[in-house]
Amino acid sequence: MRLTVVGCGDAFGSGGRLQTCYHVEAAGTRFLIDCGASTLIGFHRLELDPNAVPTIFISHLHGDHYAGLVWWLLHAKHIGKRTTPLAIVGPPGVEARLRAASEALFPGSLQTKPRHELHFVELTRETRLSVGPVAVTPFEVSHPSGAPSYALRFEAEGKVLSFTGDSQWVESLVPAGQAADLYIMECYQFEGEPRYHMSWKTIASHLDRLAANRVLLTHMEEPMLARRSEVSDPRVVLAEDGLVLDL
Ligand SMILES: [Zn+2]
Ligand SMILES: [Zn+2]
Repeated sequence: MRLTVVGCGDAFGSGGRLQTCYHVEAAGTRFLIDCGASTLIGFHRLELDPNAVPTIFISHLHGDHYAGLVWWLLHAKHIGKRTTPLAIVGPPGVEARLRAASEALFPGSLQTKPRHELHFVELTRETRLSVGPVAVTPFEVSHPSGAPSYALRFEAEGKVLSFTGDSQWVESLVPAGQAADLYIMECYQFEGEPRYHMSWKTIASHLDRLAANRVLLTHMEEPMLARRSEVSDPRVVLAEDGLVLDL
């Protein structure tokens, strides 16, 4: 399983980082975890091919995690001339929210039928879903987004890759990431208890219980970025756009 960090920034462009998007190659397929508004920019930088990605999983319906789908579908139509099927898997209401965003930004852009198949699949909390050779289990977290927000636990090739999405600490983050080969964890601040987000101090206090093999800290705002060199736990990797990790 190979993870490529397309974007690991927050909603505010902190550190000049792109918005959330992870590209995963596993079990002979590829998928995205989240699709922030800057996703295509990251794809161009890394010379990745949007048409080679059949599945996009969305953790929650905030623009820095799903708005890139607007441009993704425009690209599929006008530039990529996509003909292969695309599945978008996300929280309840994902299709309506994407259609509303598309209509606001590019009126009419989603009103004509794409030439490729387009499927929407809604996630149900703690219900394991198989999409081809990849299984995902969503765990509800604490992060208001107008729909349930999820942490996602992926299984493929006998590996486990987990992602907190955005959330303050909640106990559902334990089963979501328990003994994962890699747990991507949002780490908005260095210390304290930011509302609906986590700090490094909170994550550090739970690392032993999580028993994840490695943890990737992501979604850092400026003060956290400025102090990230103070994080010295050997299990922890600091995310950078373009980082590639083999699991
Ligand atoms: Zn976010
Ligand atoms: Zn969010």
